[in-house]
Amino acid sequence: MIIFMQMPTPGQVQRVLEKLHQCGLDAQVWQTGGRTVVTAIGENDDVDPEAFERLDGVEKVVQTRTPFKLVSRSFQAENSLIRVGEVVFGGEQVPVIAGPCAVESYEQFAETARLVKAAGAVMLRGGAYKPRTSPYSFQGLEEEGLRILRAVSDEVALPVVSEVTDPRAVETVCKYVDMLQIGTRNMQNFALLKEIAHADKPVLLKRGSSATIEEWLMAAEYIMVGGNDAIVLCERGIRTFEPYTRNTLDLSAVPLAKHLTHLPVIADPSHGTGKWRLVTPMTLAAVAAGADGVIVEVHPCPEEAVSDGFQSLTPQNFEQMMQALSSIAAVVGRKS
Ligand code: PEP
Ligand code: MN
Repeated sequence: MIIFMQMPTPGQVQRVLEKLHQCGLDAQVWQTGGRTVVTAIGENDDVDPEAFERLDGVEKVVQTRTPFKLVSRSFQAENSLIRVGEVVFGGEQVPVIAGPCAVESYEQFAETARLVKAAGAVMLRGGAYKPRTSPYSFQGLEEEGLRILRAVSDEVALPVVSEVTDPRAVETVCKYVDMLQIGTRNMQNFALLKEIAHADKPVLLKRGSSATIEEWLMAAEYIMVGGNDAIVLCERGIRTFEPYTRNTLDLSAVPLAKHLTHLPVIADPSHGTGKWRLVTPMTLAAVAAGADGVIVEVHPCPEEAVSDGFQSLTPQNFEQMMQALSSIAAVVGRKS
């Protein structure tokens, strides 16, 4: 149960808490979006919401059976619009984020940025801290990579998203990027989620590769409850038995998550498939399925990429993808 209160006095909030307590329920109180919201914790199936609606200061009461509250559609029926600079996720536009897996050098990132911008990308991506399966693989240029991201982002006038992997690095990463990415491996790194909840930056929250949709939304709930409501979800493929693809891009998760949450949901067909040939068809499918954007890896010379070259588009492939995307977007009433 979620109880919305309109500018209540402390006494009115106290009365609500006492009544919940009498019903055997615990509660948490949030100040969010200019409202006071009380979420009830515990089994509340037989509690009569009307008994709470009658209390002073209560605006409305919503019964929700889902464990996630603030991110749920019951909490907010209309889509959240998440802004990153001038880019808006969750509206009519389908923003495309593009760039290399990792920042390798100023030249590599600047060239990619110029080419993807010319083809229609509205935001850049690039990893400076790379969470690699092997400790012997390239780990990223770290702060030097962040400096390159910032410089190029300013030069081409496109905002940039980059992954943060460690709660101790959040402050540093925030100095350079426009949006923080939480990667699949860290979706349930609760210390990191709590840290970015205090950051003054929007968050791109990727789905854990073995996470259920509910676990993914609960991860978003951690961020929102902690005070950061600028969250964009990203379906990036889950682990299945299929070895031909790196992951299985779970496109049903896109409309399903959008039904459950008011947050925008985008797709990552690069990590979702692991194969560059599949990136364009799955981008088109994602947008047809209602995705609020895509994030794709592009490298000026994929065979020389230090990471994820096999799933990176060439700038030419990317341009073709963008052309095809505008037709699909128009069919589903969106703009790219
Ligand atoms: C990435 O975007 O570079 C990345 C590592 O993604 P994921 O966390 O989805 O594997
Ligand atoms: Mn990658």
